[in-house]
Amino acid sequence: MTAEHVLAGLDEDQRRAVVAPAGPVCILAGAGTGKTRAITHRIAYRSLSGEISARHILAVTFTARAAGEMRARLTSLGAGAVQTRTFHAAALRQVRFFAPRLLDGRAMPELLESKARLVALAAARVNVRADRTGARDLAGEIEWAKSSLVEPGEYAVAAAKAQREPPFDPAKVAEVFGAYESLKRGQGVIDFEDMLRAAVWGIEEHADVAEQIRAQYRHFVVDEYQDVNPLQQRLLEAWLGGREDLTVVGDASQTIYSFTGATSSYLIDFPRHRPGAVVVRLVRDYRSTPQVVGLANAVIKQARGNEARLRLELVGQRPAGAEPELKIFPDEVAEATAVARRCRELLGAGTPASEIAVLFRTNAQSESYEKALAEAEVPYVVRGAERFFERAEVRQAMVALRSAVRSLPGETPLVEAVVEALSATGWRRDQPPPGGHAREQWEALAALVTLAEEYAASPVLEPLGEAGAVQRDISLAAFCAELVRRAEQQHAPTLAGVTLASLHSAKGLEWDAVFVVGLSDGTLPTMYAKTPEQLEEERRLLYVGVTRARQTLWLSYGQMRASGGRARRPCRFLPQLERGGSGGERAGAGTTSRKSVTRRPVSSCRVCGATLLAGADRKLGRCSTCPSDLDEDLYERLRTWRARTAAEQSVPAYVVFTDATLVALAERRPSSPPELLAIAGIGPRKLGQYGGAVFALVAGADPDDLAEKNWEN
Ligand code: ATP
Ligand code: MG
Repeated sequence: MTAEHVLAGLDEDQRRAVVAPAGPVCILAGAGTGKTRAITHRIAYRSLSGEISARHILAVTFTARAAGEMRARLTSLGAGAVQTRTFHAAALRQVRFFAPRLLDGRAMPELLESKARLVALAAARVNVRADRTGARDLAGEIEWAKSSLVEPGEYAVAAAKAQREPPFDPAKVAEVFGAYESLKRGQGVIDFEDMLRAAVWGIEEHADVAEQIRAQYRHFVVDEYQDVNPLQQRLLEAWLGGREDLTVVGDASQTIYSFTGATSSYLIDFPRHRPGAVVVRLVRDYRSTPQVVGLANAVIKQARGNEARLRLELVGQRPAGAEPELKIFPDEVAEATAVARRCRELLGAGTPASEIAVLFRTNAQSESYEKALAEAEVPYVVRGAERFFERAEVRQAMVALRSAVRSLPGETPLVEAVVEALSATGWRRDQPPPGGHAREQWEALAALVTLAEEYAASPVLEPLGEAGAVQRDISLAAFCAELVRRAEQQHAPTLAGVTLASLHSAKGLEWDAVFVVGLSDGTLPTMYAKTPEQLEEERRLLYVGVTRARQTLWLSYGQMRASGGRARRPCRFLPQLERGGSGGERAGAGTTSRKSVTRRPVSSCRVCGATLLAGADRKLGRCSTCPSDLDEDLYERLRTWRARTAAEQSVPAYVVFTDATLVALAERRPSSPPELLAIAGIGPRKLGQYGGAVFALVAGADPDDLAEKNWEN
């Protein structure tokens, strides 16, 4: 790969960002327009052309999975040596490294995984009665305050200014916050925000630490910059130390972490704060079909507020695809079952499981999909591969691999050694369980074998320091060390399975087929969203979900949580649905204008149970995308009969029966007047005119025998 190759796969706007000289660069652009592509290419271009050294670059993003995705893209561009981390992982590494020096030899304090327990204790200490939800909301307020650099004493004023809606009286929240801080100090533990603060403090207060870090990192890149919070911004500025070699990219319309203190204002104001910055805007959407792009534009077009100011209309660049599907089911179980069935169809048609995702608003929604997919024997991965190295079976496998280093003969080829070591844990390569949790565990270990295969197949290692390319040691011991390194960087392998993930954790990622489920008002937007700002954030979440799909997009919800419950309304941000029920007529969700629709009785698909919105689907009595149980022979005889009848009456064929009605007849095989009348488009007149012929054909008659025998004769 040469620098010129790196430029080849870019359009002219992206190229302008990629070749910009050292200094501030800002890409403000919509989803799927190639922002992440532009920054990875900028990094690769600059390091391959020799302008800068890969080891002096720090690329930061917000989720471990997005960091992994970025790393994979950099590796394929020949720039795998670049440090790609989340803010959190970068800070953790820095704090660990400098802890002995800054803490007089003491190790870093233990990091709290969750605030919940200490917050509940703190609340009790200051006589605030908080149940589990209350404690969770308090923890959320504390996290917001700390991420926004707000101290307990400043909380009440800051919360009012930010129009927060505290779960308790602000003065009480501040008291809990203070008590939490002192409890934490007493127990000698720190939370995530403390860790970021320690990283800032290490640099701001210690010239030698600052010098060392700034010598290491000289060029900075931040993806998804619209979701940076004041604490992370402060850390970024500490790293920079007044230097200007910073590239940021983001999309204000994808700001989805404001509730935790993130703000798109750093992105929006970047050009103003850094005069001379190269600013690039991109509108060509390379990710999704024009149908998906049309829906995305329609969703975000309604957005209001600060984030919406910079919104640009996306222009789809890919060939046309199917219209997004929009489905309403009687309840959540029916919805999950239908999603699982559609996944199976996609797999059957050749879409790899890793190219399919089911996205939802809250993690609690995951369970019914896990169950439905397991029943349909579809492999899945929950929440991507974020915590891959913390999975019990992966830890166990790593122990087995380490002990195999000692027990297996040194000359055993790597992949063979890994398979053998894993067999000791009961794993069988040729025996994947059909589905469910067992399959998920099996896939995790299979991913380790794939990793070993890739590792053994690429014996040349990325440049280590300035020493140039190095021949890779492909022993089992070296592979174990590689796994430890990847675990530290949260660099999880891709698992073969349908991804089940929250909309929040899907940011920046893409799949061929995406299901955005649970789209009922109260779930998305969540019933906790009340202020206009909170509702706008929910709208942006839907926008993020919709724009993850390359080709196939499915949107659905169940009218009732469980059967017999209260009917819910569709998500208010779906532009194509008539508000207030299933009277809408259109299934095509792309470029729809709102028009008044006459209400018809609700009919549902006899295959999957979804409410039928499109006229053609109603006629069929099923979704046109659901499998057909058409009687081919009957269909052919019906066609012949229709052609003949139309000719006799000198009318076009569709006047007798439309194609959709013919399909419905051949699928449903009506044998009595009520059954015939149940087919949409057939009323008493057609029953009288053609009923006899249809019943005879259904009973097996040949069209030739029916020539003159109409019902009326
Ligand atoms: P998001 O806002 O969701 O993070 P993004 O702007 O970062 O999206 P990318 O993920 O970089 O977009 O790109 C979206 C897809 O389009 C990727 O598959 C990428 O490889 C492809 N793509 C981007 N630019 C081009 C291009 N110039 N030619 C071909 N494909 C491109
Ligand atoms: Mg991106």
